[in-house]
Amino acid sequence: MKDSSFGKGSRVCRRCGSHGPIIRRYGLMICRRCFREVAPKIGFKKYS
Ligand SMILES: [Zn+2]
Repeated sequence: MKDSSFGKGSRVCRRCGSHGPIIRRYGLMICRRCFREVAPKIGFKKYS
């Protein structure tokens, strides 16, 4: 319990709320699937 800013649960996608591999980089805190969707919008061409 070092981070309680997001309530219970450790890593949950902030976008779709699913549990899975969460991209914590760039302060996104979203899953890989959502990252691929929002990546072009935030300036990322491709997630590698
Ligand atoms: Zn997601």
